[in-house]
Amino acid sequence: MRAAALESGRSVDQVTLMGASKGQPASVLASALAAGVHDFGESYVQDALPKMAALAQAPEPGAAITWHFIGAVQANKTRAVAEHFAWVHGVDRLRIAARLSEQRPYHAAPLNLCVQVRIGAEGSKGGAEPHEVPQLLRDIARLPRLKLRGLMCLPPPETERARQQHWLHQLRQLFESVNADGAGLDTLSMGMSADLEAAIHEGATLVRIGTDLFGPRVAPPSPSHIQSA
Ligand SMILES: *Cc1c(COP(=O)(O)O)cnc(C)c1O
Repeated sequence: MRAAALESGRSVDQVTLMGASKGQPASVLASALAAGVHDFGESYVQDALPKMAALAQAPEPGAAITWHFIGAVQANKTRAVAEHFAWVHGVDRLRIAARLSEQRPYHAAPLNLCVQVRIGAEGSKGGAEPHEVPQLLRDIARLPRLKLRGLMCLPPPETERARQQHWLHQLRQLFESVNADGAGLDTLSMGMSADLEAAIHEGATLVRIGTDLFGPRVAPPSPSHIQSA
């Protein structure tokens, strides 16, 4: 991350490292925490809850951990996400955002939210269409229990750096254009193991790294998780 930031004339302090810890046991997260990773991303609520409990009991209590929900947010999962996470990255519809706002507990700080944007029509997963994003942001900004923070994408997988930048640049341009219109976003959530350098070059402020940090996922989600997550 430091090398990539340097190469792009940025400071590594401008980029948060999130460990995409889905499929990893709590012991692995505890090691990462001890090594200085304080942000974890989970894709399945039912896998995340026992890890949150385990890490809350770690010698250094879990106060320093920020939990991010990075899976697809389905309507029947909004309450658990609103109750247990500090951030949610995969929101692409007003209806889901409205439920999250309604269900965010009053004693908790507002839920930080990134809108997922579809970048690259083929092979990309989920997200609002770029042209829908300005209106969606205006609508979400009115919801009381949410704090609108930024944009997120899962671009089509590419191995060539120029192709990676081509997609990531589209999210960056949208980010800059909505901010020029006053959206006030501070988070560009993009960059995974394969495109970390390209993402930092294109202005990512938060990268989501799984494989390159933890190795292969040891407990791939079972089909039942995929159905209910
Ligand atoms: C798993 C996951 C990642 C990390 O992917 P790696 O290629 O293992 O680094 C990043 N973002 C999201 C949304 C994920 O689900």
